[in-house]
Amino acid sequence: MSRVICPGSFDPVTVGHIDIISRASKMFDEVIVAVLVNVSKKPSFSIAERMNFLRKVTASLENVEVVGFDGLLADYAKQCKATAIVKGLRAVSDFEYEFQMSLTNKKLNPDLETIFLTTSSEYMYLSSSIVKQIAQFGGDITPFVAPCIKDEIVERLCKNRNII
Ligand code: ADP
Repeated sequence: MSRVICPGSFDPVTVGHIDIISRASKMFDEVIVAVLVNVSKKPSFSIAERMNFLRKVTASLENVEVVGFDGLLADYAKQCKATAIVKGLRAVSDFEYEFQMSLTNKKLNPDLETIFLTTSSEYMYLSSSIVKQIAQFGGDITPFVAPCIKDEIVERLCKNRNII
C-alpha cells in the first residue's frame, strides 16, 4: 500500500494546493496532508483553522487525511510509515529550497523519497500570500480558493485589517 505526505503551511489552502493534493490522491492509496508549524513564517491562520479549511476542501477525497504536525517531517514520515513526500513545484524560485529540503530529508531518513508534481499552468503564479494580500485589500479571491471556505477567509482577514 502506498502512503505519502503532502506537507505545507497552507496559510490558507489555495486551489493550487488542492490541485496537487487531488492529483496525489489519484496516484497513491493514502495521502496525509500535514499542516506544519514553520518557525520561519508568521501565519495568519491558526493550525486549527488551516486544518479546518483543508478538511472542508478535501471532504470528497476519501483517501485524504488532514493532520497537524510540529517537528521534523523526516521523523513524522517514519512514524506514519509514509514512503514519500509529495510537493508541488511552481517555478525556479521554489526549486532551490525544495531541492535543499529533499536532500536534507533523505539524509535524515534514507528511505524517504520526495516526489515533485509540476504545477498546473493556470496555478503557477498562485500562493497563499497572494491570496492574503488580495483579500486584505478587499479584492475578489473567488478564482483562488475553494467556494466553501472563501467567505471565512475574507471575514477573518478583513477583521485583522480593521485591527491594524
Ligand atoms: P511551504 O511554503 O511552507 O512549504 P505552502 O503551503 O506554501 O508551504 O506550500 C505547500 C506545497 O504546495 C509546496 O510544495 C508548494 O510548492 C506547493 N504549492 C503551493 N502553491 C502551489 C501552486 N499554486 N501550484 C502548485 N503547487 C503549489
